[in-house]
This record gives sequence, structure tokens and C-alpha cells, in this order.
Amino acid sequence: MISISHHGATSGVTGSCHELTLGQGAQKSGILIDCGLFQGQDEGRGASASDLSIDFPIEHIRALVVTHVHIDHVGRIPYLLAAGFDGPIICSEPSAIMLPEILEDALKIGFTRDRQLIERVLGLIRSRLVPVPYGQWHSLLAEDDCSLSVRLQRAGHILGSAYVECDVVEGDVAERIVFSGDLGAPHAPLLPAPQSPERADRLVIESTYGDKDHEDRETRRYRLKAVLEHALEDGGTVLVPAFSIGRTQELLYEIEGLIHEFGGELWSNLEIVVDSPLVAEFTRIYRDLKPYWDAEATDLVRQGRHPLSFEQLTVINSHEDHLNAVDYLARSHRPCVVLAGSGMCAGGRVVNYLKAMLGDKRNDVLFVGYQAAGTPGRDILTYGHRGGWVELDDERYDIRARIHQVGGYSAHAGQSDLVAFVAGIPVPPREIRIVHGDSVAKLALKRCFQSLVGTDIIIPSE
Ligand SMILES: [Zn+2]
Repeated sequence: MISISHHGATSGVTGSCHELTLGQGAQKSGILIDCGLFQGQDEGRGASASDLSIDFPIEHIRALVVTHVHIDHVGRIPYLLAAGFDGPIICSEPSAIMLPEILEDALKIGFTRDRQLIERVLGLIRSRLVPVPYGQWHSLLAEDDCSLSVRLQRAGHILGSAYVECDVVEGDVAERIVFSGDLGAPHAPLLPAPQSPERADRLVIESTYGDKDHEDRETRRYRLKAVLEHALEDGGTVLVPAFSIGRTQELLYEIEGLIHEFGGELWSNLEIVVDSPLVAEFTRIYRDLKPYWDAEATDLVRQGRHPLSFEQLTVINSHEDHLNAVDYLARSHRPCVVLAGSGMCAGGRVVNYLKAMLGDKRNDVLFVGYQAAGTPGRDILTYGHRGGWVELDDERYDIRARIHQVGGYSAHAGQSDLVAFVAGIPVPPREIRIVHGDSVAKLALKRCFQSLVGTDIIIPSE
């Protein structure tokens, strides 16, 4: 029997791990789509060290397909290998470049400080990687009465992101099953928008923003400009809690565009600091992989612009330089934008900046991505507007800085984009499974799909 099951991302937006199974008994085979880490409040059911072990059978799993390299989609891969998984890891070509980098960082933080062990795990991961070009079928299983092939299509979410089309045959049943991974917004900078699948008998779709739409790109740009102007006026710092991949590069791209457009003495004073070796590394990879950029970005390069490596951009690597920068910016009156990880303020260098800067009303904190419940980022967003406080490393910090959220950089499709993705499938799927969202978002999206197609719409629980 061809079946779909879920080992994560059903009660929240993290821990993505879905299974497609065919056959039964000794003949059972399957593949996993993603194997991500639980984060924020979802951690309750996954991220403590003892809980990270893979708690489902994997003997029949032939391959892992990775939709994209965000940690909530790939973070459990080392544990999957430790549990004995010995199949290939299928992903797009850019993802194959980025996956070892992102996992190296995750291993250092959550797994071990033992350099040799990290190298061994990374070596193992590299040896299993099978990069597959977009749009090309790749066979994973071909036996007498069952077969399974996958094809990756651009998802427009982050560099290398893909949705996965699976052609499954078992006996005389043939099905096309599509896993959306995370889908990008159509008007995001840098990456081409996702196209709807040409066929999907069953669809598993994310719903991070299933209940809302983003501001359009112009509105977003205008708001970003206003936040930057506040810093330019009074010499404050705009602090951006940065995710390593995706939103950060989009934001840098937009800032370069604003500087180019408005230029002048004022804007040329604005300094942009990337205080994160990992963000810097992924920005470099983004820069190197121009063939995957969209037409607009490619045009800029042709005009001689450097959207991800402009003059006012500084990168901070060492921890000592980081501490100096925090100290300097808290005292100086130079307008500056700082991008520092982690994106949800749950750790990393951004925490030092927050401690030094939240209390000063010259400063702004700009959130560009989803803030999971239970993270300091969510608390700052919720209480920052009412003169509230946030707890960082067990201490309270009053929030006087202005707090902003610009939704569209989150690199996720909004509600109407998700609906358009489904509406664009020529024959509506007979089953849609909604995953990867808060329950409000999932229910809202379910209602949209119900009025769109007369299909079975399932919100699975594990
Ligand atoms: Zn993602």
C-alpha cells in the first residue's frame, strides 16, 4: 500500500520529517522527505539530547530526500545516520554545497565539540550526498512490481530549495505524490518563484503563513527604508536577528538596492555589519551560485552592481571583534545595520547586541522571519510595543528600542501564494495534507482549500 506518514512538523512548524512508504511486510520500502530538528516550543517533544534519537523504524528506508537546508528540515540527519540509516541523501546541487556547512554548525552547537567526531560525521554525510539537477527524474527503487522516482522543482524559498515530486508505482496503482517542503513567496528578491506542479494526486503542503498574506514587496521596501532612516537620523543601530540562509541575503539585496536608489551623503554613511561567520559564509555561497538567481538579480549583475558584496558591508568573524563591535555600537552615534544570529534570539551573537541595545530608544530591532512561540524573539515582538521586557540569560531587559516586523522577507509563501500553488495544479489533488504550521494557520488554509477544491483535506497528527 502506498502511504504517507509524518515524524514531525504536525504540531508546529519545526521537525519536518515525512515518510512515503510502499509495499508491506518484508517487502516494505520507503523514503523520508527531510529530517529536521524541533525548535522553540516544539522542543518539548524532541530536542532534549535524549529525545533526539530517531524514534521510528528506518530499516526499510531507502533514501532521504532533502527539500532545503534549514535546520528544521535537516537537523536530525546526524541522528538518522547514528540510528543506522545507510541510504543516499538526495538534494539539489546548491543544497549539496550548503548541507555540510549547516550541519557542521549544528553539530558544534548541539552534538559534540570533538573536532574529529564532527569531521567523521561530515565525511559520512558528504559521501552519501547525491545532488540531482532541478527538473530531472531520479530513480530510487525499481523492482518488478514497485518503483519510486523523485524529481526536484524550484521552491523559491531559499537557495537550493525544492519541492519533491514522487512517482510511485505499486502493482497496478500509479500515483504522483508531491511534498511542498517550504515554498517561497512569488515576489521575493533573488530567487525565481515556484511554479505549480503539473500533476499531484496527493499533496503534502506547508502552512507556516496559512492564515495571512505578506505585505507586497514595495510596501515592505518602504517600511525597511523608514526603519533605516530612523537610524540615519539619530545615529542608532538597526539590529536584525538573522537567519543564516535566505531572508538575510534577501535583506542585504534590498538594502543594496535602497542605497543605490537613494544614494547621497546620508545613505553613504550607513554601515552594514554582518556579525556571524555562518551568515557571511552563506552569503558567499549565494554570491557564487548566480546561475540560480532570478532574472532581476541577474540583470543587476549585468549592470555592474554587486547586490551581496557592496562597499558598505563589513563582516565580523572573531569573537573578540564581535565583543568590540557590541561595545562600540552601543556607545557610538554612527548609523548602522547589524545582522547577527540567531534568528529567533534564542542564542548566538544577537543576544549580546540585544542586551546592549534594547534599552536605548535610538535603536530599532527588525524581525524579518518567523518567531516561534517560546523564543525570546517572540517575546520581544509581543511585549516590545508596550514598553515591556524580555528575559535573556535569566535577566530582565527593558525594551525601549523600537520593534518592527517586516513579513515578506520570511521567505515563506503567504496564504494566497499557497492557494495559488494548489489552484495552479491542472487536476486538483484527491488528497491534501496540511503540515508545518500553527493550528490556526492550518485551519485557515484548510478552509481556503475547501472552497477551492472538493478534495479530502487532512490535518495529520503523528
Ligand atoms: Zn525553511
